[in-house]
Amino acid sequence: MRVNPAGRGKPSMAGPMRQNHAMAERVIPLVDQRIAALAAKVPAQAAAPTGLLTDTRGRPLRDLRISVTDRCNFRCNYCMPKEVFDKDHAYLPHNALLSFEEITRLARLFMAHGVRKIRLTGGEPLLRKNLEELVAQLAQLRTVDGLLPDLTLTTNGSLLARKARALKDAGLNRVTVSLDGLDDAVFRRMNDVNFPVADVLAGIEAAHAAGLSHIKVNMVVKRGTNDHEILPMARHFRGTGTTLRFIEYMDVGATNGWRMDEVLPSAELIGRLRAELPLVQLSPTSPGETAERWGYTNAQGQHDPALGEVGVISSVTQAFCHDCNRARLSTEGKLFLCLFATQGYDLRTLLRGGATDEAIASAIAPIWQQRTDRYSELRSSLPADTTQGGARRVEMSYIGG
Ligand code: SF4
Repeated sequence: MRVNPAGRGKPSMAGPMRQNHAMAERVIPLVDQRIAALAAKVPAQAAAPTGLLTDTRGRPLRDLRISVTDRCNFRCNYCMPKEVFDKDHAYLPHNALLSFEEITRLARLFMAHGVRKIRLTGGEPLLRKNLEELVAQLAQLRTVDGLLPDLTLTTNGSLLARKARALKDAGLNRVTVSLDGLDDAVFRRMNDVNFPVADVLAGIEAAHAAGLSHIKVNMVVKRGTNDHEILPMARHFRGTGTTLRFIEYMDVGATNGWRMDEVLPSAELIGRLRAELPLVQLSPTSPGETAERWGYTNAQGQHDPALGEVGVISSVTQAFCHDCNRARLSTEGKLFLCLFATQGYDLRTLLRGGATDEAIASAIAPIWQQRTDRYSELRSSLPADTTQGGARRVEMSYIGG
């Protein structure tokens, strides 16, 4: 199915963010990756997980991102544009979604393969009813080293003020809030549902008050759209205990009309920040860390932990595929090996078909062992229609960012 959105509602950004490029010529391919799936095959000889699984490039499996809903209450243009995700969009029926018990069972098997960190995403994960019950179940799991999983969640923050305490009490460690600007008018236009920025900021406050640690704010920066918000955002969060991270605008999915000239390279962004706010580069805290860290400095030019830090995630200009240790589980149980994947592996059929834990774990192992994904490293050498929406890539709203 192909949809030309011209004439089907407005482009979602206006005023200072008006896209003056040819929106009317944008043709949005709609391909439902939810239908296509590769079978997850159980090998003839099942083998117990060792926690040491690696892929073809020697990358371990450490991080599992679990989408708990394909719905969101925002319509950000780069993720769920209104002209595509309108009232006629067919979301997954409830019985297609993995139950909390099914998610927890799979998470346990992934942890036996080496996963240490679990991030809940969506859509907007806090739209999933009673999410804290899932958090409580996941908090009972242990890594192969007997440690608690690092349990975190990415949210648009709209429901965080209401949910932060229950999530913390259930065992959530951390939270990342997506926020693309502080200017209320800009923010309302970007979320395209007229949602006020004050309510998201209240959610971040509530997360601090509830005792959630290492709170991060992710800002997707789009040149000409919200890059004027970089400095106000940095000043606002400096010294508050919240780490602001700037993400290069990516060609995720097949619906966001991505163009390279709208990417603001992280190197340029750091230059803009350093012109106003003194920063020094910090060492990474762990292998596979996606963000380059920069710390605010004191009068002596040294990092001042009280002022905190910012991060830049250079998904486009500096690919970090070489140590990408992330797997993604879709809302209805498909395993994706890359944010830019075109197909996932169906684990739900095994779950609901009576497969044993050993069989499912054995099916997961070769999928990861045969993984070759490195889309961001290849992006610049790919045909233009691959990076501009022609490919059948999975939508970020479906598997989370
Ligand atoms: S492009 Fe794919 S393999 Fe590369 S870092 Fe992103 S998710 Fe990982």
